[in-house]
Formats: sequence, structure tokens, C-alpha cells
Amino acid sequence: MARPRICLLFCGGTIGMVQDSKTGVLRPLQNLSDIIQYFPKIQKELQLDVKPVINIDSSNMNPKDWTTIAEKIYSLYNHYDGFVVAQGTDTMAYSASALSYALQNLSKPVVFTGALIPLGALGSDGGNNLIYACLLATMDIAEVCIVFANKILRGNRTKKYHESFVEVFHSPNFPNLGEIGRPVVLHDWRKKRRKRLLQFQPNFDPKISVLKLFPGFDEKIIDHVLNRGAKGIILEGFGPGNIPFLEHSLIPKIQKAAEHGIPIIIANQMEHGITNLNAYEGGFRARKAGAISSHDMTTEAVIGKLMWALANNKKISQIMNEDLAGEITIEKKA
Ligand code: ASP
Repeated sequence: MARPRICLLFCGGTIGMVQDSKTGVLRPLQNLSDIIQYFPKIQKELQLDVKPVINIDSSNMNPKDWTTIAEKIYSLYNHYDGFVVAQGTDTMAYSASALSYALQNLSKPVVFTGALIPLGALGSDGGNNLIYACLLATMDIAEVCIVFANKILRGNRTKKYHESFVEVFHSPNFPNLGEIGRPVVLHDWRKKRRKRLLQFQPNFDPKISVLKLFPGFDEKIIDHVLNRGAKGIILEGFGPGNIPFLEHSLIPKIQKAAEHGIPIIIANQMEHGITNLNAYEGGFRARKAGAISSHDMTTEAVIGKLMWALANNKKISQIMNEDLAGEITIEKKA
């Protein structure tokens, strides 16, 4: 039987650095096909092509880099059985969320991975992460996911959580898609392979603002942000998304933005948080003034969704209540 064809897109991060044998400093790999030398046996299981895309620390990545990665996958889509994207962990949850909107209706997996320790350094986690990401890319799964340590997670549900080997990413509001163990386990709620018509819409409009509320937040900040031309604002409210409505009330600001057609999405600051604008007066008044709930989406997923929706002229209040790629839990009506 022919070995599955997997394409590894190299997009930088710690995993793509090697320790210089003379100086000991970390530097980007010169020849990215050198990666194969770290796990020669993989070629027995699959045909792996390595393609360099970008080689930067992921804190320097921008929405245009998400577009570049999406375009690359789209151009190679019919040539491979699955894709692996290696990038830095710092913004991996953002990239994976964004790619899930840019490439909707996947028939095959796009697996993100990375490392805390460079591939060439002693004790690196990069080899195992890459091997399992490549193996997962051959399996029966068809969505944008993250493989890291022993976890397989839905990309648009993840957050960077820790810098310990096993806890780098977690998926606070959605169960893991599987576990890397002996054997690899894939859960039934993952999206499975089948022929689907890919929806390719790779553009993002980065002209948004994300504001985290704190006690004493000056409501005029919203005016500044709007005057600077923000096309949408994500407000991280308190608890389940509560907004001050007495002193320093934000409610008139939300109303003004809504009247000018600028969407304000209320997210929350809780680690496992779900936004509920019906729980307290602070959320309820915001909703009445025109604010939109993030429901159980992570802020990372909302950021990509808002940028994607703005670039593709979607009605934001509607799209934030729609499930595009598994990023939100929509209660099914009985
Ligand atoms: N700063 C690095 C990056 O995100 C960290 C990593 O790769 O884990 O590119």
C-alpha cells in the first residue's frame, strides 16, 4: 500500500532552532530538510515533504502570516493526505483558530505542533511532537487541531496554558479530540475524514481592538479606540461578561458603537469561562445596548473570527452565534 503523503509546513518558533555546536546559541535551522535527520524512521510510515514558509518567533506573527499559511495549504491541498504546521507555541492558538475559519469544511487534517525545547537540543520535546503530529495527519480526523505532548485538541478551542511539557495547551470548554498514548486514541466527537467541498476564505482584517476591563477602567478608552478607526471591539468583561453600568458606565459607549455599526463582542476573563449576558444586570444592559456574546468561545477564537468576518463582509451579530468550525457550542433546539 502506498504510504500516506504528508506535507510539513515550517513556520518557525523554538522547534525550528538548533543549538550551534561551536557557540551554543540558538539559531534557525539553515536547511529545513535537516529536520528529517531527527526522526529518520518516519519515512517508513509516510512520505514526508518539508516546506519552509516562514521562520520567525511566533510573537512576530500577524494575520497576513495566517493568510500565507492558508494559501500554501490551499495550493497543495489535493497533493497531500494531511498537513502539519510547525510554529511557535506563543501564538499557536491564534493561528490554529484563524486557519479553521480560512479553511472551512476540511476533508483532511491540518495539525499544528511545536516545541518548548529546540529539536536539536538535549531533551527536546520537538521530535515526539513532530512525529505524532505527522502520524495524526495520516489518521481519520479532518479539522485544524493541535498536537502537543499527550494531547490532541481542537485548534480553535485551545489556549496556551503553561510552559511545562505536558500542560502547554488546554481546551477549557471542549473535550480533547484524543490522546497520544499506546495506542493513539481519537474520540468520536472529532470531525472525521470524508469528501467535503473546501471553503477557502483566507483573509483577515486586523483593525480590531481587544480591551480587558479592570476596576476603574476609563470608559473614554472606548472613544479613543473608535476614533482610531477600530472596526470591532472585543471587551473582556468581569465574571460571565459583566460590564460596569454605574460609575464609569460603559453602556452608553456600547450603544454609541452599535448605532455606528461597530460590533462590540463581550468575552470574559475566566480561565474556563463562558459568557452569559443574561446572568446579571451588567451583562443584560450591555446586551440590550447592542453587545454580542462570545458564548463559550476562547478570546483567541473570537479574535480570529471577528477579523475573518470583517474581511469577508459577514454580519457580525449573526456570525458570532454560528458554528463555523467547531469553535462554539450551539444549543440544538428541541
Ligand atoms: N517564543 C516562541 C514562539 O512562540 C516560543 C515557542 O516556540 O514555544 O515562537
